[in-house]
Amino acid sequence: MALVSVKDLHKSFGELEVLKGIDLEVEAGEVVSIIGRSGSGKSTLLRCLNQLERHDWGTIVLADQRLDGAAMSPGELSQNVGMVFQSFNLFPHKTVVENVMLAPLVVKQTPRGEARRIAESVLAKVGMSEKVDAYPAQLSGGQQQRVAIARALAMNPKVLLCDEVTSALDPELVGEVLRVLEELAREGMTLILVTHEMKFARDVSDRVVFMHQGRIHESGDPQTLFTQPRTPELSQFIASVL
Ligand code: ADP
Ligand code: MG
Repeated sequence: MALVSVKDLHKSFGELEVLKGIDLEVEAGEVVSIIGRSGSGKSTLLRCLNQLERHDWGTIVLADQRLDGAAMSPGELSQNVGMVFQSFNLFPHKTVVENVMLAPLVVKQTPRGEARRIAESVLAKVGMSEKVDAYPAQLSGGQQQRVAIARALAMNPKVLLCDEVTSALDPELVGEVLRVLEELAREGMTLILVTHEMKFARDVSDRVVFMHQGRIHESGDPQTLFTQPRTPELSQFIASVL
């Protein structure tokens, strides 16, 4: 049984049909990269997976539970699905460790001492132990993004969704964030990433999914997908990003 199972997912915004029947299964421990042109529906798919958007049709099953209707409360959902965005969205008036402790404290009612211990442990994992008491404005973009990853990990999610988490960073800061994701992948974290980092997609993913006009146009193992694209749309996309 797959950890994440998406069947015939449809989503429209008014007249605009953005997802036109997505089928996707992700096993526990798998790393899946989603690539495709701007506007192809990648972010909408991730946002449906953590119910920031409600889908119109189809099913999403996560760890044997359906993600629609009242099946899973927002609290339960945030314990299952972590998400990291292009913009880090840290609370500026809270320190690093307070940012990371917040969800466990508020959503899980974790006791303060325990929340602090969890926060310190996930901050160590992303290499941010030195900065627990700093404020976000005192950090580089790469450091802020690593804190945002730690904040998602603090809820011990079953799957981590990452939407272009390096796109807002100066080029010299991209590597430190990708290394954190690579380490999580190696430790067996289930990752679904929308990324423009083709080298990362090729080297770290178990599977790459190419979205085009609201559909999964091609998917497969990274080596085959990048070297032997079967459709002109994927060939063109690869040519445009190299
Ligand atoms: P991608 O992440 O692949 O660039 P998105 O999923 O963000 O694509 O967007 C797909 C399409 O849906 C785009 O045409 C975008 O303008 C539209 N869209 C996304 N979110 C909304 C929204 N909340 N309201 C209206 N249109 C939206
Ligand atoms: Mg997007």
